[in-house]
Amino acid sequence: MAANPRFVELTGQPLDDLMGATLEAAGLEVGWLVDGAELLAGLERHGRARAEVRWRDARGQERPGLLSARRVHEAHRDPYQVLVLTDLTCLAASRAAPGSAREVYFDNLTGLPNQQLLTQLIEESMLHARRHDGRLAVCALDIDHFKHHNDHLGREVGDLLLATFAQRITHLLGGDDVVARLGGDEFVLLIHGVEDDALYPRLLDAIEQPLLLQGHSVRLTASLGVTCFPEDPGEGDVLLRHATQAMYRAKQRGRNTFHRFDPGQDRELQVRQERRHRLAAGLAQGELRLHFQPQVDLFDGSVVGVEALIRWQHPDEGLLAPGAFLPVVAGSYLEQGLGEWVLEAALRQIIAWQEEGIVLPVHVNISPAHLLSDTFVAGLEALLARYPGVSPGLLKLEILESTAIHDVQQALAAMRRCQAMGIDFAIDDFGTGFSSLTHLRQLPVDLIKIDQSFVRDMLSDPDDLAIVESVIFMANRFKRPMLAEGVETLAHARALLRLGCSLAQGYGIARPMPAEALAEWLRGWSARHEWRALSLQASRG
Ligand code: C2E
Ligand code: MG
Ligand code: MG
Repeated sequence: MAANPRFVELTGQPLDDLMGATLEAAGLEVGWLVDGAELLAGLERHGRARAEVRWRDARGQERPGLLSARRVHEAHRDPYQVLVLTDLTCLAASRAAPGSAREVYFDNLTGLPNQQLLTQLIEESMLHARRHDGRLAVCALDIDHFKHHNDHLGREVGDLLLATFAQRITHLLGGDDVVARLGGDEFVLLIHGVEDDALYPRLLDAIEQPLLLQGHSVRLTASLGVTCFPEDPGEGDVLLRHATQAMYRAKQRGRNTFHRFDPGQDRELQVRQERRHRLAAGLAQGELRLHFQPQVDLFDGSVVGVEALIRWQHPDEGLLAPGAFLPVVAGSYLEQGLGEWVLEAALRQIIAWQEEGIVLPVHVNISPAHLLSDTFVAGLEALLARYPGVSPGLLKLEILESTAIHDVQQALAAMRRCQAMGIDFAIDDFGTGFSSLTHLRQLPVDLIKIDQSFVRDMLSDPDDLAIVESVIFMANRFKRPMLAEGVETLAHARALLRLGCSLAQGYGIARPMPAEALAEWLRGWSARHEWRALSLQASRG
């Protein structure tokens, strides 16, 4: 016989002594194989078998172990056996449970290692992989729609199905790989030395071949989730969790497929989640603010409204722009709560300004998911009822061009009901979406906002200028007012006015500011003659 270095290490037998020796000569027979007969019978019948054993360690101490044997047939060679010994000492020590090791470590129905033993086997396999720079794949397997099969076949045949399935999986793997059953239709495979993902489609293919039992032909499929050590450097239980997580992704992706866990993505997910929780706390503790950016008519210099832009006054990180935190909100439970907070804060500000004699429409950005939620319209109605001092005409909602692509009918319905309450809509970032023309025709919008990215570069980039020109042309054709965002200089303003767009918003006019700063800005604006006399200059030029 021959042995690997780990075996030499465990048993303390020099490799030279083991090489070429028989099992007996290696001192591994009498009293060592407790279940020797069963093991040999299994090998004879199935070409593979497992048995609980007692073995002697390097110091001559007797220990509990698990021996897996597999008969290997290769061309031009006599058949030979591969034996794998797993040390079960830790388990035995940690669990002084009554009953035989078989009940404690093996699943009754399939005879496979159970979760208890699996945990130990993963640790062993990781140790081995670490020592030999090897790889270990932990693969969570769950039979698709097993409940359906079980209900259909009845419990008894269902059990037989599981046992047969377990056998098939075992035969698909190599000699030192492990199949364990966690319970129900959940299995875990430990596969050593896998270099790429080619194995998993092969596994899925083999699983799909019909199983014959008691006259039934049953076709099963399964979903696999895989994580690989050392790329995924977690502890054994972490690897198992990651594999399970990946298996659920495989189920989500339509079943009968495999999904590889991505450690990088997971860390990112965790960071996002923590950020989201922190933001939720910030929202509850009043750390969110609205800043306001004025919108003007370049033609006569009048101020036509302000846009509310959210900010997070973070105690450690300072004032954060939405780009720093809105991405973690998108698609989460926070989206609606945050949206409702913004709406209410905007209404309260309208009242506060009104009391100072400033009456201006406030534009509020609405996230797509918020607008499309079932409760949006009713929530807005209830909110307006709580602030009867605000005329609905002073509230304008900005929605992204892409919002309506998602579900045109629902978006249309929500917008129409809001319009019936007297609330106008603007399409934000126009030109960045895909089906601009269709939208313009369909959507009941009262203002088109040309995306700042085109406006900002229109003086230097002919393509951007062409986009701005065509958006203005289209807006005119559909008889919709338009507003240019990103107006950073007087030169932008002049060019836009020449092209026929007089409404503007941008750093050149004003940066977003806290509500308290608006009155001061309004006073200053009336003195900025170079901006306010643009229409005269335009008509002269
Ligand atoms: P937006 O609605 O298109 O808002 C305009 C953005 O352009 C604002 O960025 C504004 O500060 C910036 N901006 C204005 N003028 C100029 C300019 O001349 N040059 C340049 N380079 N930028 C200019 P901000 O405040 O960072 O907001 C970014 C986006 O976040 C907004 O884009 C909007 O989509 C979203 N957002 C802001 N507040 C809210 C909110 O309360 N709710 C939701 N759902 N989204 C919001
Ligand atoms: Mg906006
Ligand atoms: Mg915009």
